[in-house]
Amino acid sequence: MEETLKSFGITAQQSGVSTGKHWLAGGGPVITSSSPVDGKVIAAVKSASKEDYDAVVATAQEAFKIWRQWPAPRRGEVVRQIGEALRKHKHDLGRLVSYEMGKSLQEGFGEVQEMIDICDFAVGLSRQLHGLTMHSERPGHRMYEQWHPLGITGIISAFNFPVAVWSWNSMLAWICGNVCIWKPSEKTPVTALACQRIVEAVFAANDVPEGVCCLLTGGRDAGEWLAADHRVPLLSATGSTRMGKAVSAAVGARLGRSILELGGNNAIIISEHADLDMSLIGAVFGAVGTAGQRCTSTRRLIIHEKVYDQFIARLVKAYGQLRIGNPLDENNHVGPLIDRDAVLAYQQSIEAVRKQGGTFLVEGGVLEGPEYSSGCYVKPCIAAVENIYDIVQHETFAPILYVMKYQTLTEAIHMQNDVPQGLSSAIMTLNLREAEQFLAAAGSDCGIANVNIGTSGAEIGGAFGGEKETGGGRESGSDAWKAYMRRQTNTINYSTKLPLAQGIKFDL
Ligand code: NAD
Repeated sequence: MEETLKSFGITAQQSGVSTGKHWLAGGGPVITSSSPVDGKVIAAVKSASKEDYDAVVATAQEAFKIWRQWPAPRRGEVVRQIGEALRKHKHDLGRLVSYEMGKSLQEGFGEVQEMIDICDFAVGLSRQLHGLTMHSERPGHRMYEQWHPLGITGIISAFNFPVAVWSWNSMLAWICGNVCIWKPSEKTPVTALACQRIVEAVFAANDVPEGVCCLLTGGRDAGEWLAADHRVPLLSATGSTRMGKAVSAAVGARLGRSILELGGNNAIIISEHADLDMSLIGAVFGAVGTAGQRCTSTRRLIIHEKVYDQFIARLVKAYGQLRIGNPLDENNHVGPLIDRDAVLAYQQSIEAVRKQGGTFLVEGGVLEGPEYSSGCYVKPCIAAVENIYDIVQHETFAPILYVMKYQTLTEAIHMQNDVPQGLSSAIMTLNLREAEQFLAAAGSDCGIANVNIGTSGAEIGGAFGGEKETGGGRESGSDAWKAYMRRQTNTINYSTKLPLAQGIKFDL
């Protein structure tokens, strides 16, 4: 890993605050990042003080005055070059993501691929930031709308997608003409440093003004500074629902804008008409991939009573074949949780399941031994529960899968929707009527609803996000870019008269 760090110019003691050209002192607390893979320290990163923060915001404000005047396709060309740089660094950055966060190497590479994909998407979009034209009721008048940049976009990201979520936001924000201040998760600061280095090189080669790409390493405090700051018109925050409620209140109090991407509690309905082979792969990958630490991880299986017993038997057998261990070894299916706090939360949830009446079909537990010395490796487990249990209503960020039975599809959809979160959902069925009922207005209430695909693994072309306590934000594809811009309606009078709207007479 030392070679990888060196290739990004990251030292053992490193400032984590940058204006895109200069690295500031980093006068805040030092954040030590250690790997959940083997418990070893990766680097000590100096986080931002309030003075650093104010310097970064001032630089970003100045940069915006210049950057907003660059033609959008020219900004797109810079983003295209970032995509090229990411292609070159895919292997190193993917390995670093895997090592610092603990996801499998394949998923580390996949995360970087997602960054490359959003760059490509943003390049095309840089020529398509179009508004509508309307017919005016007044003669000799024309109406249209256009989209302008907003200013500073703050980006708060979570540990589980340490770099992709930043890229979803920043690539769109940049082609829209905004400048960005990124506050990465304090659990994964080193991957953020690597991204900053990659972008800085591209920006330097293109004379992009200092302040367009800022990095603000820090903990909750730094996130709170962004949330409270009226100089930050848009804050995109990804993380827990607890964090989202705090950010939403602070940004709302100053009538700023926020994009909230919060927790999920995602279910797959497995119908009596399902292809059970496909369902098995979808369920197991959804539940144990990234050790259950995706916002779209499958937390609940709602299984038709006619196929329940046979599906559970296959599921239990599949869990028996899972290999848990170092995620950099491609033979393993499941890596570690992010840290020991996450292990504790996993253990407490298992305890709560038992107390509330659940029974374990596959037992959990913390793994011990030399290869698990970080103390972060746990066994994926399965519990038979009722949807109404308090613990089932919560998102535990770990590989705990809840299973339950249903009789009618209406009942299954009700169970699927009957949780506070509304991110991702899926139905496994070969029956057209069932699939359409699930997707209809009275069907799934989630931001993502899939048929014959599991709950995790979204593509960047669609808008990504969820309803209810997931926060309501949308990022990435489709028209998600509109959240990063302000809309302006323009009416132009090319006649020789000044008629008023609604036929109002006002003669002098
Ligand atoms: P977290 O809420 O602990 O932290 C996320 C980020 O918010 C960190 O950068 C943290 O420093 C910052 N933060 C925490 N409290 C804050 C506050 N009061 N004000 C401002 N910033 C604050 O989440 P985590 O443990 O890093 O990530 C896991 C959570 O993220 C899960 O709930 C998961 O579902 C969610 N998530 C959601 C999506 C999505 O797109 N919906 C994507 C990834 C992760």
